[in-house]
Amino acid sequence: MDPEQLREYGHKMVDFIADYYKSIESYPVLSQVKPGYLKGLLPDSAPNNPESLQDVFDDIIQKIIPGITHWQSPDYFAYYPSNSSTAGFLGEMLSAGFNIVGFSWFTSPAATELEVIVLDWLAKILKLPDKFLSTGKGGGVIQGTASEAILVALLAARDMILRKVGNKSLEKLVVYASDQTHSALQKACQIAGIYPENFRILKVDSTSNYALSPEVVSKAISNDIFAGLIPCFICATVGTTSSAAVDPIYEIGKIAKAFNMWFHVDAAYAGSACVCPEYRHHIDGVEEADSFNMNAHKWFLTNFDCSVLWVQDRNALVQSLSTNPEFLKNKASQDNSVVDFKDWQIPLGRRFRSLKLWLVLRLYGVENLQSYIRNHIRLAEQFEQLINSDSRFEIVAPRTFSLVCFRLIPTSNYSDNGYKLNRGLLDAVNASGKIFISHTVLSGKFVLRFAVGAPLTEDRHIVTAWKGTFIRLGLDFVLENH
Ligand code: PLP
Repeated sequence: MDPEQLREYGHKMVDFIADYYKSIESYPVLSQVKPGYLKGLLPDSAPNNPESLQDVFDDIIQKIIPGITHWQSPDYFAYYPSNSSTAGFLGEMLSAGFNIVGFSWFTSPAATELEVIVLDWLAKILKLPDKFLSTGKGGGVIQGTASEAILVALLAARDMILRKVGNKSLEKLVVYASDQTHSALQKACQIAGIYPENFRILKVDSTSNYALSPEVVSKAISNDIFAGLIPCFICATVGTTSSAAVDPIYEIGKIAKAFNMWFHVDAAYAGSACVCPEYRHHIDGVEEADSFNMNAHKWFLTNFDCSVLWVQDRNALVQSLSTNPEFLKNKASQDNSVVDFKDWQIPLGRRFRSLKLWLVLRLYGVENLQSYIRNHIRLAEQFEQLINSDSRFEIVAPRTFSLVCFRLIPTSNYSDNGYKLNRGLLDAVNASGKIFISHTVLSGKFVLRFAVGAPLTEDRHIVTAWKGTFIRLGLDFVLENH
């Protein structure tokens, strides 16, 4: 690493990225390229001799940017957001600059200790019970994604029960979730060796606003116990992926405790909203949970990746995930005087990710972060009102946070419950390049999802998305399909 070259190139790169953000609204939000587009544009093999940074910039502009979907565009409303910010970006830069691999305390004490402190800070902002703090038996750890957070929680739960009932009982362990739970749990079950027939996907519907019913949970557990199976793990979600539904975590937590099950709360998206006192009640009952995760990289201005997992009993993770090979032994670890985060996660290596969360918390402060969330929820409300004012459209699930689920109402001419009509509208909107939205299916209805949460989105983007994109294209669609 030549520091002077880094300075020169680094300045140019920051200028390039700042210019990208300045012009971000000029690009089609959803990339419009066809599969394989890049192969014909780049050489078959790497260059033998160095090329100039300018050549690389030229290729980025001409060949890479057309293949980019602009997640940071203010007109991005798909899936859930994946925030970037100046503070998050600087934290990433610093992390890349140090480029340490902090798997054990010993390999970079600051990386472990800052992570412990910052996650205690965030736990306090979220008003998590003290048992999730590092000062008790619990603590937080940054995982790459919610999928990893859910997997390590499941592994800890599985092993905790197997230690009691014996390894041969793996085939009897049952995992419970609703049909709105993220597919990350299904994948975690596959990896953890849960028998597919023992993954209970409990049905929910519009009568409970797509939230899991405690009665349904109790009944499923009782049936399984009667059949000689062993309830092991239940996952509730605060802010489901399809419609941002909120499972009743207090009631589900009580059930989990009554049956000695591990209770995980997945708040990957909506956890961020709970930093605001007026939304905190959505995680009332989290004191019943064994583990809780939220993605700071979704809606908390922290660049990807930064998924935060807190557990009440850190030993449960360590018992499942620790290894102690000779080549990693060191005095601090052997003395048990430190946290070694390698034992709280799947990989060995880990990045210095707490830096970016630390910078976000310090450079913005809690009050600004709360205002940031509130503003997005206000913009989503505004969009919801625009839909409500047009009788051709309907809201399909209640809006709790910044996600609006809606659709064009099909007339009786449509035999497919408006599936093709709304699919067509989705495709037309996204092909326009003006905004990017995604979809889901709820109660057999094809639903358009409009998730506000990109940091640069302002009132004008909401109004333009509605009037300029949905109404115009929506109208065209209704006319064409009649
Ligand atoms: N859980 C919920 C509720 C989500 O909405 C998502 C993704 O949107 C996930 C889990 C998976 O997140 P990740 O990509 O961090 O694994």
